[in-house]
Amino acid sequence: MRNFAKIMPAGGRGFSGSLLFGAAVFVPVLLAARAISGGELSLVYPFAWSLFTGLTAFFIAYTGRVSFYRRIFFAGLALSFLVHFKSALLSAAFVPSCMKDAPFCHIAIAPSFFNYLYQQYLALMSGDWKLWGPLTLAFLWLFFTLVIGRAWCSWACFYGGIDDSLSALPRKALIRSILPAGAFRDFPAALLIFLLLVSLAYMLPVYCLWLCPLKMTAAFLEPDDASIRRVQLGLMLFALAMLLAGPLLTRKRTFCSFLCPFGAWQAFWGRLNPFRISVEKAACSGCSACAEACPMYAIRTGEGGKPEITAYCNLCGECLPACPTKALRYSVPGAVAEESAGVLRFLSPEKCFVFSALVTGGAFGALFAPAALRDLAHIITR
Ligand code: SF4
Ligand code: SF4
Repeated sequence: MRNFAKIMPAGGRGFSGSLLFGAAVFVPVLLAARAISGGELSLVYPFAWSLFTGLTAFFIAYTGRVSFYRRIFFAGLALSFLVHFKSALLSAAFVPSCMKDAPFCHIAIAPSFFNYLYQQYLALMSGDWKLWGPLTLAFLWLFFTLVIGRAWCSWACFYGGIDDSLSALPRKALIRSILPAGAFRDFPAALLIFLLLVSLAYMLPVYCLWLCPLKMTAAFLEPDDASIRRVQLGLMLFALAMLLAGPLLTRKRTFCSFLCPFGAWQAFWGRLNPFRISVEKAACSGCSACAEACPMYAIRTGEGGKPEITAYCNLCGECLPACPTKALRYSVPGAVAEESAGVLRFLSPEKCFVFSALVTGGAFGALFAPAALRDLAHIITR
């Protein structure tokens, strides 16, 4: 059994192949970033973001350290999101007007999906094709889900980038686990079903209005009703604590694991995508180091004390280096795990997955990361 590191070993032998791999990621991200910026930005900024993504690919291939370089990329994506949207998480509480910059968020797709379908039904009935608008994002989501599935949550989502980066900061958990392993792990699925139904009943984006920390001031449902405002503020502060404090205290991704309806949505639809983390049971000693390392509570103990990877795995790769027997790997059902030679090396499940994930994350980040770099340049040169 081999892992990614053995495909592209560190050292001169893998340098040119790694460079090629980095270039293969850089080019499509640059094309996407250039198309998205539409000539409004200097080419320097899309180029810089694409180079960052391409370098991430190069270092992953050259060193074999998927999760380490993924985390740097993911943190950069989340940071650029916060920079471009004027640090909305912090400033919204004090400067409500800044919320005009809050982005249209992919997380809203899941809990409001029935609303989109109903709007589409109305559009069909009335012939008003302008109502296709809300579904545009849904089509994009479907495309990205087919390409990387659940990995969206560890390679592209700006919320996930905040949660993931904070969980990596402490050397060890202050609170070993706020919950017994696996308890409440299905709560986001129940929350999703609840939100889908209530959102449809009121034809409102209920998650955005009641839970999203980014909407802490400007989007209140009843701005004149103090008691409703207090309930909304309480729920949003709880979500904010799960996003910021939870990961720092537990080294786990508490917001993504227990509160994000999009994570539950993606756990279901992610089955459409073939990439998986698999365990070679014969090589596994049952030490549970992988479950300990998993920031998503996505590994449970199965038959004979061996780990089972659940649908909540979002292919971050954190468990791979934690395993002392190298029993974990990226895989595709049915793919042969033998060493490939020549051009087939580039078609290995590991390589295909990292390519798909970085191109998707890079293209999505191109919506705001080049603009964030421009904002930073303006601040520095002002
Ligand atoms: S099982 Fe491994 S790859 Fe999946 S979420 Fe947990 S640490 Fe990440
Ligand atoms: S860390 Fe490796 S050996 Fe230990 S339980 Fe997980 S897969 Fe098995």
